[in-house]
Amino acid sequence: MTSEKLLLVGAGLSGAVIGRTLAEAGYRVTVIDTRSHVGGNCHTERDPASGVMVHVYGPHIFHTDDAGVWDYVNHFARFLPYKNQVKTTTGGAVYSLPINLHTINQFFGRTLRPDEAAAFIEELADTGIETPESFEQQALRFVGRDLYEAFLKGYTMKQWGCAPSELPASILKRLPVRFTYDDNYFFHRFQGMPEDGYTAMIARILDHPGLRVLLDTPFEPGMAQDFSHVFYAGPLDGWFGYDAGRLGYRTLDFERFCARGDWQGCAVMNYGDVSVPWTRITEHKYFAPWERHEATVCYREYSRAAEPGDIPYYPVRLVAEKALLGEYAARAAAAERVTFVGRLGTYRYLDMDVTIREAMETAAAFLASRTAGKAMPAFVHAPL
Ligand SMILES: Cc1cc2nc3c(=O)[nH]c(=O)nc-3n(C[C@H](O)[C@H](O)[C@H](O)COP(=O)(O)OP(=O)(O)OC[C@H]3O[C@@H](n4cnc5c(N)ncnc54)[C@H](O)[C@@H]3O)c2cc1C
Repeated sequence: MTSEKLLLVGAGLSGAVIGRTLAEAGYRVTVIDTRSHVGGNCHTERDPASGVMVHVYGPHIFHTDDAGVWDYVNHFARFLPYKNQVKTTTGGAVYSLPINLHTINQFFGRTLRPDEAAAFIEELADTGIETPESFEQQALRFVGRDLYEAFLKGYTMKQWGCAPSELPASILKRLPVRFTYDDNYFFHRFQGMPEDGYTAMIARILDHPGLRVLLDTPFEPGMAQDFSHVFYAGPLDGWFGYDAGRLGYRTLDFERFCARGDWQGCAVMNYGDVSVPWTRITEHKYFAPWERHEATVCYREYSRAAEPGDIPYYPVRLVAEKALLGEYAARAAAAERVTFVGRLGTYRYLDMDVTIREAMETAAAFLASRTAGKAMPAFVHAPL
């Protein structure tokens, strides 16, 4: 048993998994969060009127190929099967996403088999673009103009707030098309939803006698002196009081509405037309397909640049942000007795499974550093 006291800033998945592992190793762990609930952005709560489990900061679907992480989450929650089947409304019709054989046949009024569809798409592709430099060029080279404009252009413009010609080609790494009728959005072996929601799961991770949780408690720099080490899952630039400027994020505005019965008949409906200002509507009862509710709760989702005070959702990570990130990361690397973790601490988009894996690695690195009598680094996972 060690008498060392550790502070975890953030009661999301990063803070919970690191905190739990180190509490089990005998450390005295305090987890604080500025919010009034645990769970970070994965937070779920039941709508009191309808009983629908609502994903308060946007829908979260658990999917992974990492068997260790899948075992871990199944230890703290019962996962029920969930398949993410996304639809999109574009040009006055509804299609299946990601672009698959059904989408292609419906969109072009064909009855193509897989090899025929692959040859057809190859004909549409703009092979004149040899080295795509932008998202737009990459999309045109992969699928040609018609599919690009119907399924990728408008959604991307709304999501990122700029023309796809201004975004790097790297955003679209692979051919965004399947030549089968498989409409499961994710390829991963394991996919599901925690029966009681993510907040209940994360509360169970945090439930350990060596760990205390303080909610409604924003981190203040003076707090660090009471602890031998801080794990900080807050925004990297926030640690420095944003003194060199703010790292760019996209934020989301959710327009929540309720209705009787069903609203759209599926969990996620994207909107591909630029004339529709929202990117998608999510109907939350469909994220728990084993439940039955007479009423329904939906979120209309709008994306825009985050301002001070907004919730930072998606790191922008374009050229200007990377320059500022380099500056903050260099300063952070020189800091002592603090490790920056998670999606905000390292300014990266991280799915939940990656967050958990990295949190496990961070806790293991801390234990190894203590055993070796070495200083714990500021980053176990570098932001750049
Ligand atoms: C819209 C959206 C949808 C997503 N959908 C999926 C999905 O379908 N599947 C998937 O695998 N992943 C999804 N993710 C990713 C998932 O949300 C992250 O993997 C996960 O939330 C990362 O956990 P974290 O603990 O690093 O960060 P967070 O969950 O953001 O937790 C950080 C916590 O730190 C707290 N905090 C910050 N600053 C301070 C401070 N100064 N003092 C005290 N507390 C502070 C915050 O309040 C927050 O609770 C999605 C993300 C977004 C934005």
